[in-house]
Amino acid sequence: MDHCCGLTMVARLQDVYSENSVFIQDVPVLYCPTCQNSFIAPEIELDYHLFAHNCATDGLRSASLADAAGDDKILGILERYPEDIRIRTSQRVVQEQIDSTLDLLNVAKHMDDKVWQQELLERLQMFIRLSGVNRL
Ligand SMILES: [Zn+2]
Repeated sequence: MDHCCGLTMVARLQDVYSENSVFIQDVPVLYCPTCQNSFIAPEIELDYHLFAHNCATDGLRSASLADAAGDDKILGILERYPEDIRIRTSQRVVQEQIDSTLDLLNVAKHMDDKVWQQELLERLQMFIRLSGVNRL
């Protein structure tokens, strides 16, 4: 779940506007620098939902998740999913992703797994499209 496009996702702090209209700051979000898929870090999702609910009940419009979950827990998540080479070089795709996908494609061909082959081919096409494209 914490992998996407063949690499580990990266954590960053983001401000999130919750379903019950509370502006929650400092939420650790995992995101994929390649396809830009993102979601709230699973380790803190429950804290986030409870906090957003409690804030809404108390009539708060904005609050920091660090007040509820604690700095240590939030920093721990940031450390577990550190910035990778894609962030440091501002690249959407790195060679390692293309190489490992080609390796997997060979395995899929050996296993004659057509569905997997198709998934990997689509991933490669996306990588080619994003190669040389700078991260937004
Ligand atoms: Zn991705």
